Amino acid sequence: MTETRPPNRGIRSTGASTPQVRPATEGWTQKKDADGKPLLQFASPKRGKPPVHLADLSPEDRVAKVKDLGLPGFRAGQLEKHYFTHYTSDASKMSDLPADNREELVHGMLPPLLTEVKRLETDRGDTIKFLWKLHDGALVESVLMRYPGRITLCVSSQAGCGMNCPFCATGQAGLTRNMSAAEIVEQIVRANRLIADGGLGGKKSTDHSLDRVSNIVFMGMGEPLANYARVMQAIRVMTDKKHGLGMSARGITVSTVGLVPAINKLAAEEIPVTFALSLHAPDDTLRDELIPVNSKWKVDEALDAARAYFDKTGRRVSIEYALIKDMNDHAWRADLLAKKLNDRGRGWVHVNPIPLNPTPGSIWTASEVPVQNEFVRRLNEAGIPTTLRDTRGKEIDGACGQLVATEDDQADAEATPVSV
Ligand code: SF4
Repeated sequence: MTETRPPNRGIRSTGASTPQVRPATEGWTQKKDADGKPLLQFASPKRGKPPVHLADLSPEDRVAKVKDLGLPGFRAGQLEKHYFTHYTSDASKMSDLPADNREELVHGMLPPLLTEVKRLETDRGDTIKFLWKLHDGALVESVLMRYPGRITLCVSSQAGCGMNCPFCATGQAGLTRNMSAAEIVEQIVRANRLIADGGLGGKKSTDHSLDRVSNIVFMGMGEPLANYARVMQAIRVMTDKKHGLGMSARGITVSTVGLVPAINKLAAEEIPVTFALSLHAPDDTLRDELIPVNSKWKVDEALDAARAYFDKTGRRVSIEYALIKDMNDHAWRADLLAKKLNDRGRGWVHVNPIPLNPTPGSIWTASEVPVQNEFVRRLNEAGIPTTLRDTRGKEIDGACGQLVATEDDQADAEATPVSV
């Protein structure tokens, strides 16, 4: 497919008055492979595995493990209820389990996984960012947000990330390791516990339904499709009505920078989650620099896979597009994006532009408001439903691409003993 206008190199005028800023890392050095391209890390570095938890296992394997611990299989169901309904791993609250081996059973099935290092609140208490320490000292974050009619948790799926996107705080540190399914699920259980205890502000007196997380977005640390098997196990647990959290698959958004074979695999699963493609540029010239994985799977391949996801599941796909001043926010890019989406049919996709968090003095800063509006207008006019997304959480660096442990976080984490 041809581009409507060739992108320029360097910071200079395109001739129509809009400058073109090229992506570059600021204040850090991007790791490169032997060919000088940004390094992509798909395999998780070898580290000690987290303890196996009930949420890592299928319902049958939970029963088998309880039996291995010397108890009848039905105890697995009781543990599931404590964990997924009452959000507790505290043996002292499980008086329905036999007192003599209760501690051993609970420790064997529900070992501690996340130690809270700190939490930051903003938006009058209805946005909370958690910093968690894993069993091996790796740090991850999640962000809990109350909106009218829903409570969303942005979860991490990897400690760090191997996709090396130059604008992303998480990517700078590289991939520490894949998280286990239970480490992913535990973020939700802990958030539900906090909500049940009244710890999330902003509840309106008319809002009776919301007493737990209703929506999940995989937009925290990590590329979820690079940790496919564990993310899928976590989603199975989230959606299982009998043996898990019983959430709606439609409320779960899996977001990817475009790992095409994994998108195809996801489409073949029988779980109709919402699928989001973080595109950020409609032309390969810019996207190769902005999203290094584009060197493996190009814009058109990623869009074809997104369209195939719609065909297979009937679920409308989201295109995420961070609007970055003078880098990817040009009117011709809005037109090109609209063309590429319309070339693949109507009614299968919507676009969510999100202004990048403002960083004065950096090349990585938010588009001007009139530019944002023009970008959105052009897409809508071309028949692509487009809505500018909320940047909730930006005051606490909790918006997408912002989740990374700082030096202060590291120091706080070192002072926090890991739960055992
Ligand atoms: S933007 Fe997403 S995929 Fe890219 S480095 Fe950051 S966390 Fe990884």
